[in-house]
Amino acid sequence: MALRLFFLLLFLGAGGGAGWWLGQDRGTQLGLAAGAVLWFMLETGRGMRVLRWLRRGAAEPAPRLGGLWGEACDRMERALLQREREAQQARRRLEEFLSAIQRSPNGVVLLDPQGRIEWANDTAGAQFGIDPQRDLQQHIVNLVREPNFNAYYQARNFAEDVVVAAPGSSAARPMKLAVRLHPYGEGRLLMLARDVTAVEQAELMRRDFVANVSHEIRTPLTVLAGFVETLQSLELPAEERARYLQMMAQQAQRMQTLVSDLLTLSRLEGSPLPGAGAWTPLGPLLAQCEQEAHAVAAALGKSLHLEFAPPPPARVGGVASELLSAFSNLVSNAVRYTPDGGSVTVRAQVLEGGRLEFAVRDTGPGVAAEHLPRLTERFYRVDRSRSRETGGTGLGLAIVKHVVQRHGGELKIESRPGAGSTFAIELPAARVRSERAVALQG
Ligand code: ADP
Repeated sequence: MALRLFFLLLFLGAGGGAGWWLGQDRGTQLGLAAGAVLWFMLETGRGMRVLRWLRRGAAEPAPRLGGLWGEACDRMERALLQREREAQQARRRLEEFLSAIQRSPNGVVLLDPQGRIEWANDTAGAQFGIDPQRDLQQHIVNLVREPNFNAYYQARNFAEDVVVAAPGSSAARPMKLAVRLHPYGEGRLLMLARDVTAVEQAELMRRDFVANVSHEIRTPLTVLAGFVETLQSLELPAEERARYLQMMAQQAQRMQTLVSDLLTLSRLEGSPLPGAGAWTPLGPLLAQCEQEAHAVAAALGKSLHLEFAPPPPARVGGVASELLSAFSNLVSNAVRYTPDGGSVTVRAQVLEGGRLEFAVRDTGPGVAAEHLPRLTERFYRVDRSRSRETGGTGLGLAIVKHVVQRHGGELKIESRPGAGSTFAIELPAARVRSERAVALQG
């Protein structure tokens, strides 16, 4: 302030002095006025430079000025720099935040108070078939064209999720999304979408499974209850009575087999993956399968040509009881489904690369291609009555698939209606060891 006053006085003094020297009293007045105008113009010029710098967005360094304008520029420059730094930081934080949401496995969409998309991550884009750039400002209801989502959005009660079918979802490849809207800010909505296809399918499978088990148990139970009632109410001759008891025993046996298969399945699902710790020789495993095959054929009163090729001198690594159950399930299926007079050939061989193939070939009815992918589903049967007649539970191949998967192998099915079937289990080389290798290892 003092400096400005000094300069003003200096200009006035210089103007007045020069005026007096040139024109005495009148000259002094004019000189003073000229000094004041000059000072004003210089000051205005300095102010204009500052204003120009500000108008250009203060992108360049501030004009180097002394005094009051200089200090004002300095302070403005520092304040602007600070603001720019803060804005940059905020931008970086926002970008980090958005890239974190971008990585989210769930779909995230931000909606403005009118329900228009303000931002969406790529997951949401893929889930709803929207383009996170192109579809900005589009109304969400126009993009998610699901009647139950529309009703959910209009009802404005967002306490629970709404499950919608994703676009492109079909009966063969269903895709379900659980969507929830969360209000935030002033009327804005955060939309979260989770892929619940697997959960929904598991739930559907659980319901089907419970219904199937109940049905499978109810049938023999109803038969049993009927026989009990007959025996209780009628005086039957001993022969008839024995026949009834025999049929009751059959039904009880059927339930026992079912429960035992169910327990096997649940054990397989619940227990940890088996290591290749125990090495079981193929010889005794196949011998037991052969014994069982003869027993099943005899029980069904069938005369089949059963051929078991001598197994290679090898051992398989894993849980022996599981492997036996998988092998014997395939053999007993072949025996059960092959009509009288047919043949069943069982062969185990070590393939190139050290894998083991256990193949069961039969001359039975074969299976049409459309059924093949579903054979390993629980309770899936091509011919329900034939399965029941021969004591099937509909769980055999499901057990086989589980055992094989747990041992890192594959179940391969080749079959054509009228041309028989080949069911083969392939175990990886890591699960196979030749007797010679076992002997060398001691
Ligand atoms: P099931 O107890 O009914 O035999 P599985 O799970 O073992 O149940 O087999 C499922 C279905 O696959 C059977 O119901 C049958 O229709 C078909 N299947 C299995 N093995 C054979 C085979 N060797 N020949 C023809 N069909 C078979």
